[in-house]
Amino acid sequence: MIAGMNGELTDIESARELILARCAALPAESVPIGDALDRTTAAAILSRERVPGFDNSAMDGYAVRAADLSGATQAAPVTLKVADESRAGDAASVPLAVGEAIAISTGAVIPVGADAVVRVEDTERDGNGVAVRAEAKVGGNVRRAGEDIEPGAVLLDAGARLGPAEIGVLASVGQAKVDCHRRPSVAVLSTGDELIGVSEPMREGAVRNSNSYAVPALAAAAGAGEVSRERVGDDRAQTIEAIGRGLGADVLVVCGGISVGPHDHVKAAFAELGVEQVFWRVSLKPGKPAWFGVGEDSLVFGLPGNPVSAYVTFLLFVRPALLALQGADPARSRTQARLEHAYEKPADRAHAVRCSLRLEADGWSATPAPYQGSHVMTSLVGADALALIPATTTRVEAGERVTVELLP
Ligand code: AMP
Ligand code: MG
Repeated sequence: MIAGMNGELTDIESARELILARCAALPAESVPIGDALDRTTAAAILSRERVPGFDNSAMDGYAVRAADLSGATQAAPVTLKVADESRAGDAASVPLAVGEAIAISTGAVIPVGADAVVRVEDTERDGNGVAVRAEAKVGGNVRRAGEDIEPGAVLLDAGARLGPAEIGVLASVGQAKVDCHRRPSVAVLSTGDELIGVSEPMREGAVRNSNSYAVPALAAAAGAGEVSRERVGDDRAQTIEAIGRGLGADVLVVCGGISVGPHDHVKAAFAELGVEQVFWRVSLKPGKPAWFGVGEDSLVFGLPGNPVSAYVTFLLFVRPALLALQGADPARSRTQARLEHAYEKPADRAHAVRCSLRLEADGWSATPAPYQGSHVMTSLVGADALALIPATTTRVEAGERVTVELLP
């Protein structure tokens, strides 16, 4: 069977596989680390530096020779001569001699000759001398050079997502730029004679073009680069022209006009422009008319126009593609949750149920939004996840675990 042909519906997971099979990560570009949040590395990154760069103190206190403090106790302190100071950024100018201490700050260079640091809390300063009330262990309170990172160590693998910690580590070794996969450009085209812009006066029978805002926002949240938006009426020639323009982007998302009505021109336009169909129609509610194909240089999605259907099919199909194009893991937004209430449905299509999530003692609990109609956009406001109820399932019991797709 060819997916999407002969009235057959493609199931959600097969649709994702068909999409991901067409998603090669985009070429790399060099990105300053200050701009690299949420980007994905295109190659492994090896450290050029050592961290810590030098042996340094873990405490404020005194650098000592541990042997000098043998037998020191609270009752019988050992007094050392304070020879110098080592501050962060300003090391001591003399080495440590037998019977001496050098005052030291956290992070400061361990003086030559010292092999331990005693905490300031275990000492009492008196002029040029310091009484130490505890023994020291060789290496005690000393952070060794290279303890964290040695030169040549693999800091990040290829395909690593750059979060705040990764960016901090790159900064710590003087890595100012990082090779990341390019972000995909996305063109969003909304179709429909009924659509009017957000600032246009309302008129009888008109529908606000909400997809032209929600869908670009979804694209941006999924890491898209440049995102354009355009609107076209239900006119065959104009639809072909607009889709032709949209094919200049890495990913074209057309909303509406993908069904079989007399004013739905999108599929014919795709065919006219040589966009190869991979699948059409998915076993999914909402979102059955979803279409996917490939142009010469772009991935092309036809999403149903209903705002909720467009939103759901974007999350299930377009977002994984955008992540894969960035070299990121498309599965990272999946988890499991227990359904708060029983859920019943016929054994036909899979359902994507808008839910809020709450953390319970035994994990995430998902509560379905009360209105699940594909035109009820407010059901997405405050929703955290789509619970995915498989096609053949007719009833999920309260407390049963289901797979959920996390919303951005
Ligand atoms: P269609 O998929 O073109 O048959 O549209 C299905 C429903 O979604 C219709 O009620 C449309 O008015 C509505 N719709 C289509 N496109 C949009 C859009 N861009 N914004 C809001 N609603 C839309
Ligand atoms: Mg339409």
